[in-house]
Amino acid sequence: MIVFDLCCAAGDHRFEAWFASSDAFADQQARGLIGCPVCGDSDVKKAVMAPRVGAKSNQLTVKASTSPNNAATAGEISPELVRKVIAEIAAKQAEMLPRSRWVGRDFANAARAMHEGRTAEDLIHGQASPQEAQALRDDGIPAMPLLVPIVPPDAVN
Ligand SMILES: [Zn+2]
Repeated sequence: MIVFDLCCAAGDHRFEAWFASSDAFADQQARGLIGCPVCGDSDVKKAVMAPRVGAKSNQLTVKASTSPNNAATAGEISPELVRKVIAEIAAKQAEMLPRSRWVGRDFANAARAMHEGRTAEDLIHGQASPQEAQALRDDGIPAMPLLVPIVPPDAVN
């Protein structure tokens, strides 16, 4: 069995109909045996829309890869999307790091000082312990972990 989305010429009513095969549909269509359930018009044709995939399709995942917003609401995140997002974050990080000042172990203090207006706003990166990072979050100080690990400049010496 095969399902088609059809629409009538008279009123552009859309409806679904099942057929034994694509040929059966063409035959019944040619003989005017298919009637619109709304207005009875027998001049019906296939409605233009996305092709249907079989039951248990991964249609949501396919959608997610083309539209991140839908992915979030659909609650399904495809591996491609994850890779894409990670690549974007990595690119962002690579773009920001040259403009960012390495503060090493002083990160938490430096971030707090900026947040409290004791020093000028600046883009900084450095190291913080999990406790320090948590304390920053608790105080509403914007800081985020570097997704892509970097080698601290002072460790290179
Ligand atoms: Zn109709």
